[in-house]
Amino acid sequence: MSPRILVVEDEDALSTLLQYNLEKDGYEVDLASDGEEALTLVAERLPDLVILDWMLPKISGIEVCRRLRQRTETRNVPIIMLTARGEETDRIRGLDTGADDYVIKPFAMTELSARIRAVLRRIRPGLSEDRVHRGDLIIDRVAHRVRRSGEEIHLGPTEFRLLDHFMQHPGRVFSREQLLDAVWGREVYVEARTVDVHVGRLRKALNRNDSDLDPIRTVRSAGYSLDVEQ
Ligand code: CA
Repeated sequence: MSPRILVVEDEDALSTLLQYNLEKDGYEVDLASDGEEALTLVAERLPDLVILDWMLPKISGIEVCRRLRQRTETRNVPIIMLTARGEETDRIRGLDTGADDYVIKPFAMTELSARIRAVLRRIRPGLSEDRVHRGDLIIDRVAHRVRRSGEEIHLGPTEFRLLDHFMQHPGRVFSREQLLDAVWGREVYVEARTVDVHVGRLRKALNRNDSDLDPIRTVRSAGYSLDVEQ
């Protein structure tokens, strides 16, 4: 699964350029041209990273950043802010509000690409790896195998994708709808409670011994998260 980047930028020429270059780098790209649209898109489909322009119509970039940080589902989504040269106090405010990094306009695409890679590596080390360890769990995406404390766990394809998704975002709470989008895809119509069934199967497969701590946490009226040491 390629990382999905949401670009929030009201200058069409720049957002087209960003989309072109990011897609060339192998990312999936969504575009929003103002803060309101950005918040709607994020609620529909959670991005892996947001590139957020400071100066936006309707809701400013800084306000979008603040709201994303307030919501449980988006609290940990990395944000890179685009700011104009010389707006030093803005940059500091941006970082205070919870942006992970900032890039000053005008910028070279190579610089932005490097920042994106650095932020994704730091925040989501599992994104591009074939094998990911979280706590006592190991998932091998090439061999399609899962182990817990060295013991092989057999999972169906859906449970495997669910676990893979959770392991890419440990500690983050996903709603049923977000899990449907990420694991089943948007084009497929599946009822939300199907998610509960598959999470139930995944749990059963992972917790084979009575002494096993359940790594999947049910968050009432919010969804599920994988709670393991990172
Ligand atoms: Ca702007």
